[in-house]
Amino acid sequence: MTFDRLGLSEELLKAIQATGYTTPTAVQQQAIPAAIAGGDLLVSSQTGSGKTAAFTLPCLQRLSGRRPPQGSGPRVLMLAPTRELALQVAQAVHTYGRGLRWLNTACLVGGAPFSAQAKQLARHPDVIVATPGRLVDHLARRKLKLSDIEILVLDEADRMLDMGFQEDIEAIVRATPASRQTLLFSATLDGVVGKLAAGLTRNPQRIEIAGDDRAHGQIEQRLLFADGLSHKNRLLAAVLGCHTVNQAVVFTATKRGAEELALQLQEKGFSAAALHGDMNQGARNRTLQQLRTGRLAILVATDVAARGIDVAGISHVVNFDLPRQAEDYVHRIGRTGRAGRTGVAITLSGPREAGLIRAIERYTGDRLAVHTIAGLEPSPRATNPPRFGGRGRMSAQPPADRWAPGGVSVAPRGDGGRRSDSNQAPRRFCR
Ligand code: AMP
Repeated sequence: MTFDRLGLSEELLKAIQATGYTTPTAVQQQAIPAAIAGGDLLVSSQTGSGKTAAFTLPCLQRLSGRRPPQGSGPRVLMLAPTRELALQVAQAVHTYGRGLRWLNTACLVGGAPFSAQAKQLARHPDVIVATPGRLVDHLARRKLKLSDIEILVLDEADRMLDMGFQEDIEAIVRATPASRQTLLFSATLDGVVGKLAAGLTRNPQRIEIAGDDRAHGQIEQRLLFADGLSHKNRLLAAVLGCHTVNQAVVFTATKRGAEELALQLQEKGFSAAALHGDMNQGARNRTLQQLRTGRLAILVATDVAARGIDVAGISHVVNFDLPRQAEDYVHRIGRTGRAGRTGVAITLSGPREAGLIRAIERYTGDRLAVHTIAGLEPSPRATNPPRFGGRGRMSAQPPADRWAPGGVSVAPRGDGGRRSDSNQAPRRFCR
């Protein structure tokens, strides 16, 4: 399958060619022609599946087909949960729309000055990319009208609901015409997302993409057990000091944790900086720019702040604190292995975190491969999870069997090492 079979114009095909992508991903193959046909779509696809192009390209196709009368309002509205993701989506509009010289896009995100955004709106943008909260603020100030919207895109709708944007989304939708086309993308279409979707769409086509169909390369998932915080810190320093690390994102549970860890890493001589929601937009943009240009090696981030970061140089993701939800794990590790490269995701687990590890493994369907770092092996206590076999059952399996004698590493097993079960021997980390 090639892109020229999807019904896209020459200008868009040229822009795709310039990115170097030759084969549409599964979500692109299904969603692009369906969206061009004009119906509503509910698409379940994970981060890294190539979903941004899957909704951006059909929107641009619609825009290039007909120019609106002078003075019309924006025709496409794309909503995303975080500032970083919105900026990334706006960048995709720019990348794929490079042949449409007249195309004008406004990006409305929180934390940036209203006046600059009001100037963008005064230039009559064709496309608005926004986070829901800031868009509602502009609507309240009567700085824009959404009555000419032809396509409404909700990217990562599940996340927007998690972040409490339901009322904002409903207010925004009320300001758009009922005749609009709605494209909803989400990791899941069940539960509250399903209810939201039912209220927003008409006879939608459902497109479900399996979780492991990624546009990004293969991500090797590793597990390192730690005895406690100071052991975690030493493991982290050893991981980041490994010669195979090009750039890394380290995840913490809290904003304060991110600040503190970034400082500690700086003191150890690493090029590290924090990224979290309490930083103003200017500081966040500067940090991300340093990451993109390679001047920053290690980003210490919270889940929300790191959502959507797409930097090809990120070779490693480290879960210093475990994610609160298994789903966040998938978003986190998707920061590496971008644009077809390979990546390594390392999870540091404390002695009492076996339940969370099991939840992640159940969610992803993958087992994390247990590794050790020579000289930093965990005590048997840390590798002594209270539960085995998943679903909360206690197992008779003696946990000490998780390790080969003396923590000696062994070669990967025939199953590709994708197991963290009780018979698994650990492997050396920096190979
Ligand atoms: P997304 O799921 O939109 O965040 O995209 C994940 C990554 O895949 C991004 O780095 C995209 O630039 C890249 N990508 C998108 N489409 C393709 C494709 N057809 N082939 C290879 N990489 C792609």
